[in-house]
Amino acid sequence: MNLLAAVLAAAAVSAQSPASPADPVAYRVELAKAGDTSVAVTITLPAAAPGPVTLVIPRAVPMGYSEQLYDRYVADVTGSGAEDAAVPVVGEDGPRWRIGASGGSVRRVAYRVDLARMEREILGAADSSRARPGYVGLLGYSVFGYLEGFESRPVALEAAAPADWPIFTTLAPQATPPLAKATAAAADFYALADSQVAMGPALVVLKLESRVPLYLAAYPEGPVELAFTGSLVAHALDALVAYFGSAPFPHYTAHLELLKPLSPRHGYGFSMEHLESSHYFLAADSAVTALSPEPLRRRVLFNFAHHVAHAWVPKRASGEGYFPFSWELAPLIDTIWLSEGFARYAAIEALADAMPEAEGLAYRKAALESLRATLPGIPAFIREMPLVPLSRIASTRYSEDFRTGRTLFTRGALLAAELDEAIRAGSSGRKRLRDFFRHLMAWSAANRPGFRIDELPGLVRDATGIETGEVWERWLR
Ligand SMILES: [Zn+2]
Repeated sequence: MNLLAAVLAAAAVSAQSPASPADPVAYRVELAKAGDTSVAVTITLPAAAPGPVTLVIPRAVPMGYSEQLYDRYVADVTGSGAEDAAVPVVGEDGPRWRIGASGGSVRRVAYRVDLARMEREILGAADSSRARPGYVGLLGYSVFGYLEGFESRPVALEAAAPADWPIFTTLAPQATPPLAKATAAAADFYALADSQVAMGPALVVLKLESRVPLYLAAYPEGPVELAFTGSLVAHALDALVAYFGSAPFPHYTAHLELLKPLSPRHGYGFSMEHLESSHYFLAADSAVTALSPEPLRRRVLFNFAHHVAHAWVPKRASGEGYFPFSWELAPLIDTIWLSEGFARYAAIEALADAMPEAEGLAYRKAALESLRATLPGIPAFIREMPLVPLSRIASTRYSEDFRTGRTLFTRGALLAAELDEAIRAGSSGRKRLRDFFRHLMAWSAANRPGFRIDELPGLVRDATGIETGEVWERWLR
């Protein structure tokens, strides 16, 4: 399509709405007063759209590999049209509301989200927002929905807190968060949904020394050495920026919640990665300090590195199915073994590269051995399932049945290690898997929505000159 045709096509699409496609959709989220356990959300279109429009609340989230019915916690959905007059709202099947009627217009949609009920009912800490005394932490996708057809528009976010509360957004992090109101821009709904907002007098924000502007936004319910924890995050981030050769984000936030479990059934073991942030949940008795035993410090450092690595793979280089994201039903993905296993291997390599050479080699060897040691404990019907069908199964139950997740990331990481060894051997040590990763990042920036599995050996060859088709085939068989 030439430029004129593109402009005409865009004009035809926007003919329904007088606003330009570049005009942002305005999102506002507000915690009205301290102690509230619900937030109010309003979505305002740049200009009134012909009715009806559909509000969609996510049930699946990028990298969630599961479904969470966030629409359950949404109440009091209202809509208004051109003159701010109320328009009808009808709940539909699935996480959808029809706002307005044909012949009318829709400008604004509002609703409330019950955070207390969300945290009570969603047992995995990584999947829920929360309101605790003096603190509210919001995962974008658990509170923000989109108006269908507007999800690729830029977003202008305003987040509002009680007057004396500091408020922080990962979209525009600040070492000293402003009081009562924070504003930020996001490229589209995905970037908004993938961000976090944290607020309250119990929030602690640290600016960390790193290659890129790096922030720790923490809510500790127990004793923790935040500066030490932050130094581990900074070390992990710097190692990965060095490994991949550049940072694909302008700033990065580690969001850390050190929580007293809400109930014995609630789990705090999983972390979550995002485009320019990652989110860590710890039970209040498992904080790491400078005096912790080295294996614990290494484990926490690796957990940071692994999740930071996801900012490259798969957030910006993935197989088909990750983008554009399917918000209402978790997508079936063929390449979780690559997203999880290769990101794990990149983290191992990045941390090893940052050590003295002999120590790095020993670290890599021990990491791969401990991966290999987990496989015999997994039942054979999962352990021996080909990677693509297993990836599809894990697309909706990666952590719920972690045998699927563990098998995928282990075999994916071991495949990456074998590729690395083949590349190093074939190039007499001049090339390594790192060259493939760097090439893949550049290739992915120009080739959305993602690679096909059968393109991967060619991408390795382009990056390194080494044929690895046989290795891929053996591991994928
Ligand atoms: Zn992961």
